[in-house]
Amino acid sequence: MGRVLLFRKAILSVTGSRLVKGFVTTYGMRLGAGRFVAAESLENTVDKVKELNARGLAVTLDYLGESVDSREMAAEAAEVVLQTLDAIHAHRLDANVSVKLTQLGLLLDEGYCIELMDRIVGRARELGNFIRIDMEDSSVTEVTLQIYERLRERHGGEHVGVVIQSYLYRTARDRKRLEKLDANLRIVKGAYSEPADIAFPDKRQVDKQYIALAEEHMRSGCYTAIATHDRKIIERLKKVKRTHSGKPVRCEYQMLYGIAEDLQDELLKDGYKVRVYTPFGEQWYAYFTRRIAERPANLFFVMRGMLGR
Ligand code: FAD
Repeated sequence: MGRVLLFRKAILSVTGSRLVKGFVTTYGMRLGAGRFVAAESLENTVDKVKELNARGLAVTLDYLGESVDSREMAAEAAEVVLQTLDAIHAHRLDANVSVKLTQLGLLLDEGYCIELMDRIVGRARELGNFIRIDMEDSSVTEVTLQIYERLRERHGGEHVGVVIQSYLYRTARDRKRLEKLDANLRIVKGAYSEPADIAFPDKRQVDKQYIALAEEHMRSGCYTAIATHDRKIIERLKKVKRTHSGKPVRCEYQMLYGIAEDLQDELLKDGYKVRVYTPFGEQWYAYFTRRIAERPANLFFVMRGMLGR
């Protein structure tokens, strides 16, 4: 197993401990979470989105949270997503919304989760907006794709999209299945700790499959959101300009809030559309630890925060 994957596994296992979680959440944004999370309230997040829009960046807003314990928590999360769609509309922001199905009760009651998603995508359709369903760990890959398929049957493909992860062996097959629907896909490498019988343990293979998936989706004519900070991959995909039938490709680049801002600006300057995944809310712990697990250097931000600098 590569060093990067070992580091990810170690960090995700340490941060899973209650003690560590209690400490980090108590010392909150001071530990450096503010670098990756826009704000805790929707109101302050709107101001951050205005700043990003003024720089020329589009946004996808993510109300933080996952794997809720009750229907009430799922309903509360859905309510915030609806309020977020309304705020985007009221403030005329260039933004859409990303959601996690486990935050909307997928693991408690699938039917209820679909009901909530139906309301959310319905509201996005009314407002001319778009909902991206994030992809979570491999235990929910298949059900996430099925719910996506169901929602687009009901609301059309213009207002809902989903994510595929290049570290999973199954993803090439999934992409083909989704291409038949002309699916708007965000392509990512994958942020969870997955076993070698279902995910590539070697990062080079993850990167190779990423390029193959993105190139094929772009050339097929489907809308592709290239979500990575990997400069080499971005340079390679910039060369893909035409679909198999000779039309211009339809794509955008996506990056996480607070990461690779120089690369975001370069792409903007070259005329590409760039969207920043902007998380907000109080439940930032799991998101924050995944960002640390991806990159050892991010630990320095945490340590600096601990030292109060
Ligand atoms: P890497 O090979 O990990 O990194 C390439 C370079 O990018 C690094 O050398 C470094 O310079 C920079 N970089 C990468 N990560 C960081 C970081 N945390 N801090 C600072 N610099 C960094 N994953 C999912 O599983 N499901 C999702 O729905 C999902 N949605 C995402 C949406 C967006 C917009 C993005 C950008 C990522 C999303 N991810 C999601 C996370 C993704 O799977 C990867 O874990 C993450 O993007 C890091 O991989 P990378 O493509 O940037 O490449």
